[in-house]
Amino acid sequence: FAPWTDPQAKPLIRFEAVSKRFGDFTAVDRVSLSIHKGEIFSLLGASGCGKTTLLRMLAGFETPSEGRIFIDGIDITNVPPYERPVNMMFQSYALFPHMTVEGNIAFGLKQDRLPKDVIAERTRAVLDLVQMGKFANRKPHQLSGGQRQRVALARALAKEPKVLLLDEPLGALDKKLREATQLELVNIQDRVGVTFVMVTHDQEEAMTMSSRIGVMNAGGIQQVGTPIDIYEYPESRFVADFIGAANMFEARVAGDRDGRLVVHCPELAHDLTIDHAAPLAAGTPVTVMVRPEKVAITRDMPAEGLNWAEGVVSDIAYLGDVSIFHVRLASGHKIEALQTNRRHTDEQKLTWDDKVYLGWHPANALVLTK
Ligand code: ATP
Repeated sequence: FAPWTDPQAKPLIRFEAVSKRFGDFTAVDRVSLSIHKGEIFSLLGASGCGKTTLLRMLAGFETPSEGRIFIDGIDITNVPPYERPVNMMFQSYALFPHMTVEGNIAFGLKQDRLPKDVIAERTRAVLDLVQMGKFANRKPHQLSGGQRQRVALARALAKEPKVLLLDEPLGALDKKLREATQLELVNIQDRVGVTFVMVTHDQEEAMTMSSRIGVMNAGGIQQVGTPIDIYEYPESRFVADFIGAANMFEARVAGDRDGRLVVHCPELAHDLTIDHAAPLAAGTPVTVMVRPEKVAITRDMPAEGLNWAEGVVSDIAYLGDVSIFHVRLASGHKIEALQTNRRHTDEQKLTWDDKVYLGWHPANALVLTK
């Protein structure tokens, strides 16, 4: 049972209407946000959306122009960085080149004037945690990028912060190592239980690692939710479009039938029926969104009760595990359909210029009004 699903649970971190201006430019715009103990919370957004600024305000490297930040119910808005129960791991890792791995980790603990045996014990424990015990006497230049990343993580965890801030933690690693390290990082976080707040522009990384994601745009938080919420139930066109691929149609509500919304879309030959909880008045302009993997592509007419369209295959992107078909409708509008590439069988493969049908279930489309 996750505390962030309980509206009564006290959050560990709370942003209250936090804004940050640089001159007359607003980098962060009235952000209110709660993060709970034990979360891996990702701030996700395009370059320049304000995610790093938000993280730096939590660290204490920037002061909000307006609003307040609380940790454990205590207002830390004006508390200096070193007095916050927060530690930051930078993308560059910022290891001291002349110190050994062990020395790098012990350094911060010595500054905190911890007893020698505590320092030795903690250094060993965090190095074991990130499986770098064997490398204690190496210097940073004798390590691979992935190993340096682990040392930086160990160093940040050694201080036993309540909150660890990670700014594009895997940004310096190549794709393969990045993917392997994502799950490793989740695993380590699970064992130590420290709350992670992470900044990333990589949606796959955010989806893989996070308990919840805050999608940012132009200084504001657009939506907060679990990876599944954000992908399956985006609340706005922006989020639908930003996360994953989406087919979007501009449409108008025509009415309702059998408890389903009927919408008319000029680009499609037939009205669509969509499962939609909230009633909407006829004539309301809406956007209809369907993910490519929810669209079946067939040579035969789709079954009764499905939404459907017909068109011609105009492009095929073969990606190995899946293929993405672009189908052009009579209106000129294109729909993307994703198909898993299974073993080659006798079935006839679809190819360019084939006439096809597209079908999707009323439960698999979403109506967006924002
Ligand atoms: P990226 O992924 O590129 O790091 P970001 O979402 O983290 O982007 P921020 O670094 O938070 O974005 O910056 C948000 C905006 O605020 C940007 O337009 C940036 O130029 C501006 N900005 C950030 N710091 C300062 C500063 N010290 N002075 C002036 N403008 C700043």
